[in-house]
Amino acid sequence: MYKAKSIKELRKLLDDKKVTKEELFEESTSLAKKYQEDYNSFVTILDKFKSKDSDSILDGIPYSLKDSFSTSNILTTASSNILKDYIPVYDATVYKKLKKAGATLIGKTTLDELAMGGTGTTAATGIVRNPYDKERLIGGSSAGAASSVALGITPFAIGSDTGDSVRKPASHGGIVGFKPTYGRISRYGLFAFASSLDHVGILTRNVEDAAIVTDVLKGKDENDMTTLKTDRTEYASHLEDSIKGKKLFYIKEICNLEEYPKQSTELKETLSDFKILLDKCRELGFIVEEVSIDKKLLEAIYPTYMTISCAEATSNNSNLTGIQFGPRPKADNVDDLMFKARTKGFSELIKRRFILGSYILQKENQEKLFLNAGRVRRIIVDKINKLFEEYDAMILPASGGPAPKIEGTTEEVTDDEVVLENHLAIANFGGMPSITIPFTIVNGLPVGVNITCKAKEDCKTLNIAHEIEKVTGLKDIYKEVD
Ligand code: GLN
Repeated sequence: MYKAKSIKELRKLLDDKKVTKEELFEESTSLAKKYQEDYNSFVTILDKFKSKDSDSILDGIPYSLKDSFSTSNILTTASSNILKDYIPVYDATVYKKLKKAGATLIGKTTLDELAMGGTGTTAATGIVRNPYDKERLIGGSSAGAASSVALGITPFAIGSDTGDSVRKPASHGGIVGFKPTYGRISRYGLFAFASSLDHVGILTRNVEDAAIVTDVLKGKDENDMTTLKTDRTEYASHLEDSIKGKKLFYIKEICNLEEYPKQSTELKETLSDFKILLDKCRELGFIVEEVSIDKKLLEAIYPTYMTISCAEATSNNSNLTGIQFGPRPKADNVDDLMFKARTKGFSELIKRRFILGSYILQKENQEKLFLNAGRVRRIIVDKINKLFEEYDAMILPASGGPAPKIEGTTEEVTDDEVVLENHLAIANFGGMPSITIPFTIVNGLPVGVNITCKAKEDCKTLNIAHEIEKVTGLKDIYKEVD
């Protein structure tokens, strides 16, 4: 069994000829099939081994790809009925790069429809369940990607993160979720949700693996004009850099229990374990300080995120008409065709977001809603960037506790925890590198801590996370299930 091994461990086994690439593919796909009925991580599990030889560290390493990345000749649905039968004719840049590196794709993973949502319960093919407790969600939108790693099926998975979609399921799944700086990794071939916020993200079981995969994927891409100049620093070789004297801040209004009127036991435990982690960080040599930010500003994160993301999503997804892609219904004329395709093709959540988006984009509302949201976004980013003049990183719990129960889950957020559950979007607003790693177990379920740095400081983010990972005792965990 090669299950739940790290990239480096698998690399060594392959190099020592203790295992072949085909055998790794066989084992991963059979695990994927075995767990599919209970956890629903995949939309498609591949059955033919295919890999190019390369001298990359990822040569022969199995991985999964979120089903919103274009893969030629492989069904790509974005977990939506509107793309139910869509087989793309081109490859996303990340897929192309991984192919070139010899990594072995084993399947396309389930997401919240069109990457909108955070529960992993809205895919056209059903709910994705949490390996630690089947009655709980793993969170989304990169739900299947997270569960494929948390179950030990693949050492890494590629997801996307527009508001928290890699870093939140990582928290609920007890794994690492890294979203590098905006533009660090090409988004060519990733179905756009909200272009000003969308990032490619990586899910692994340890920080080193996240750095290794980022090193392979990063770089300028002429097909994506938002990509940054290639950063030649190898992140994986800076993980042991000294962090002595590096300064971390946490936000009082998010981390102090007194801020919350309804103090659930899970919240209490999470926040008290977080304070223990901060002490351990101090022992490691970090300077950790509390800062205070106007609560009104923090409360603005969620509405600002919704305003911008719904507007951009409505515009981006206007190409899903039933004409070029996906099933084409019988209709009397073009308008009727689009009406039928979109009525049948989208779930309630998507329609609700498109209605909101259309309203926000209406000429008479644009200034008051869309442009104002952009201004609030700027104020929030400026505030955090100002703190980054003094501090190296922001550290916060990635969620208010372990994964919620599936039953009764809605997209609605309670006022009580609206800030705690949505601050991860700050890193999308500012394009900042941001990583979640598991830090504690509450009620038998994992909870993650998030570390965010200034844009372009990917190397530092991984270095800090790698250091903190040493004191969590939760490196490389995964859930063994029947
Ligand atoms: N949960 C957020 C939403 O509902 C973020 C989704 C994402 O990052 N793709 O849109």
